[in-house]
Amino acid sequence: MDFIMQMRPWFGEEEKNAVCAYMEEDGFITEFKRTEKFEKMIAEYTKAKHCIVVNNGTVSLTLAAMACGIAAGDEVLVPNYTMIATPNSVKMFGAVPVFIDVEEETLCMDLEKAEQALTAKTKALILVTANGRYPKAGIGAFVNFCKKNNLILIEDSAQSLGSCYPDGQHMGTVGQVGSFSFSAPKIISTGQGGALITNDDEIAYKLRRLKDFGRSGGGNDFHDSIGYNFKFTELQACIGIEQMKKVSKRVERKKEIYSLYKKGLAGIRGIKLFEQDIEHTVPWFYDCICDKRDELQTFLKEKNIGTRLMYGPINKQIAYQVSGEHKVSETVGKKGLWLPSFAQLSDKQIEYICISIREFYDTGNR
Ligand SMILES: *Cc1c(COP(=O)(O)O)cnc(C)c1O
Repeated sequence: MDFIMQMRPWFGEEEKNAVCAYMEEDGFITEFKRTEKFEKMIAEYTKAKHCIVVNNGTVSLTLAAMACGIAAGDEVLVPNYTMIATPNSVKMFGAVPVFIDVEEETLCMDLEKAEQALTAKTKALILVTANGRYPKAGIGAFVNFCKKNNLILIEDSAQSLGSCYPDGQHMGTVGQVGSFSFSAPKIISTGQGGALITNDDEIAYKLRRLKDFGRSGGGNDFHDSIGYNFKFTELQACIGIEQMKKVSKRVERKKEIYSLYKKGLAGIRGIKLFEQDIEHTVPWFYDCICDKRDELQTFLKEKNIGTRLMYGPINKQIAYQVSGEHKVSETVGKKGLWLPSFAQLSDKQIEYICISIREFYDTGNR
């Protein structure tokens, strides 16, 4: 069996042909019509009023926070289990991320713990819909909590393209702004890339100016606000358009893979696949809590199976070193493992992975 990577993007002939066709047109490569089309496709798919694409899913969060009026010194509640980009995005302009532990079942922010962390400086909450999952209390509880406490709600939906809340609203459309990432491992990819969605006209207006030097109109040099340059390129958009055409199929396959893993891993003592509502949401990665996690990873590597350690508790990263004990995120840091998760995985590969894991636990972990 050839080495099975933990994750890889999926591009095909369609992407190649789209880029080649664009190059025949002698365009400027910087964002224009293809980018507009890509934005429109994302807006339609998520049923959001506006979509604005930017360089990546980190700067997207920074711009979202700035457009919503979050400023240096403001405290922003973020989950202690997430990709480091979530807190870093607000740290970038001097806001203060406050780390909140997550729910054991969903790995989304624990709302009770968020409430305990409120101060006079708390200005916003970033909800990360981890792996496409929604918090147990429901998105409504987060909306109410933010309203009651006068907080801005930003959804970091980087892992949630194709995932909806049970009421059918696409993730990212409920808070003031939602953010997606198109980096290599995400559900669809443009190499690098990010998108913001919002139903708020004023926020959309601000976001467009923030990403284009604060220009008051297309291409001129009149500036009515301070902005920067986080623009996209047509080459990325060519790829993104083709990826969006494939998203529904990809989402279906990712759900099927989840069911195959669930069956294949059933009854193995020592490993537990996280539960996921695959009717409404898409597992981005196949995440597990494992006994002897590091030994399992080594064992699987010898079997040509790639895995990846799940994110450790952010407050204990050397970059942060913020005091506080957050039980769930710490457990995930010690026992969390991502299994091979790309949509191209074959049924046979999944079977081989499950058999190998069974072998590890059945033979007393060697
Ligand atoms: C991937 C990811 C990001 C960062 O996106 P980039 O495009 O890599 O900058 C942010 N938040 C979460 C939850 C992510 O998974």
